[in-house]
Amino acid sequence: MNHSTTEEPAATVARMRATFRSGRTQPIAWRTEQLGRLRELLTAHGEELAAALHEDLGKSSAEAFRTEIDFTVREIDHTLEHLDDWLLPEPAPVPAHLGADATAWTRYDPLGVVLVIAPWNYPVQLLLTPVLGALAAGNAVVAKPSELAPATSTALARLLPQYLDTDAVAVVEGGIPETTALLAERFDQIFYTGNGTVGRFVMRAAAEHLTPVALELGGKSPAFVDRDTDLAVVADRLVRGKFLNAGQTCVAPDYVLTDPETARALEPRLAEAVTTLFGPEPKESAAFGRIVNERHFDRLTGLLGSGRTVTGGASDRAAKYIAPTVLADVDPKSPVMGEEIFGPILPVVTVADLDEAIGFINDRDKPLALYVFTESDTTRERIAAETSSGGLGFGLPLAHLTVSDLPFGGVGESGMGSYHGRYSIDTFSHRKAVLEKPLV
Ligand code: NAD
Repeated sequence: MNHSTTEEPAATVARMRATFRSGRTQPIAWRTEQLGRLRELLTAHGEELAAALHEDLGKSSAEAFRTEIDFTVREIDHTLEHLDDWLLPEPAPVPAHLGADATAWTRYDPLGVVLVIAPWNYPVQLLLTPVLGALAAGNAVVAKPSELAPATSTALARLLPQYLDTDAVAVVEGGIPETTALLAERFDQIFYTGNGTVGRFVMRAAAEHLTPVALELGGKSPAFVDRDTDLAVVADRLVRGKFLNAGQTCVAPDYVLTDPETARALEPRLAEAVTTLFGPEPKESAAFGRIVNERHFDRLTGLLGSGRTVTGGASDRAAKYIAPTVLADVDPKSPVMGEEIFGPILPVVTVADLDEAIGFINDRDKPLALYVFTESDTTRERIAAETSSGGLGFGLPLAHLTVSDLPFGGVGESGMGSYHGRYSIDTFSHRKAVLEKPLV
């Protein structure tokens, strides 16, 4: 049952709040039971979800399991393994003026009713990972899948109520009107993943109720390639990271930044890596996905002329197919460098040296991820110290977000707040300061 069809947003939120206030979501046993049931859903209905992901995004089953279903299962397992430890009160040293018998500690309080708004590109992972974090922290949740991945949204709205406590987790399907109506309600936390324009709407709506927000946004994540690196390895890893999900990944390398000589040597390597991964005709490859809709297809094809085509360039609107494309000689002022690409186009932009690369990165919005391919410790240290990004990957794109013990999130224009593993507990809890002074 989809609660959105039978209830007004205010009624849904009131129902979730009543459950939260009853205390039902507090015991760790309830939380772990919900996580276990979510795990059961994912294992029992993995194929069904993979089919929905294929329908929405042309994702292969292998990719759907690797990047969405199994990813979420791993996050559940990691949380189940460590939750008791993460929730332990943390003692704080007490200053002498309070006396030797005083004690102090922090405890994690759930926030209450959390709204999770998810995007379409990883519509299972990006809805369920925050939901499981919010539940692990003891909250009730309203989950809003993306209307732009309709098959997945329908499947989740049908399956979640079959497995989870329906008085503590509600799924509300819909687009802008439904989300706007939800955002008018008072939540105790809003966790939004998507673009920065909508992120601003979310934050404005949240300000009305002084509701804290986590904004998981995107932006242009650069990949800096140093001189004297093994370009075959670099090209292989760049291509795998870039063209996963047809480039529709928030942490995909958006563009390559390197010196002109390395660029010339790297370009044919990138073309070879595309052929190795997807064959001579990527359109026939089951491993290569499709663009989510015509609007994004038209936006992306408009970027194809921003440079010299090294490989790719073909497109088919009826199939929402855009070939994995590498563009060279790209002017930093060209359209492809003006916005987050979020599709299968990889521009190569040249800079003279490391100093110029760091300047180039710092002249732009703080990215969600920054990737660096280098053999030099000095380069690694300089980039780590002199740039700011949500995450930093040396030698391998995307992988940092699969480490559950690392916080995943952006900074500046790429967002605020983080999650995964214990960082989800931090995000979905209030750390309450407690002091105790015995009466006698
Ligand atoms: P989207 O269009 O699916 O929108 C995300 C959510 O916002 C959806 O649930 C949608 O219904 C809702 N929404 C859209 N317009 C709204 C409005 N006017 N008012 C209220 N709600 C509204 O997804 P998208 O924004 O196209 O996603 C792509 C962007 O998300 C990219 O910038 C990408 O980098 C970013 N992203 C970030 C992460 C991350 O973890 N940081 C992950 C994935 C995507």
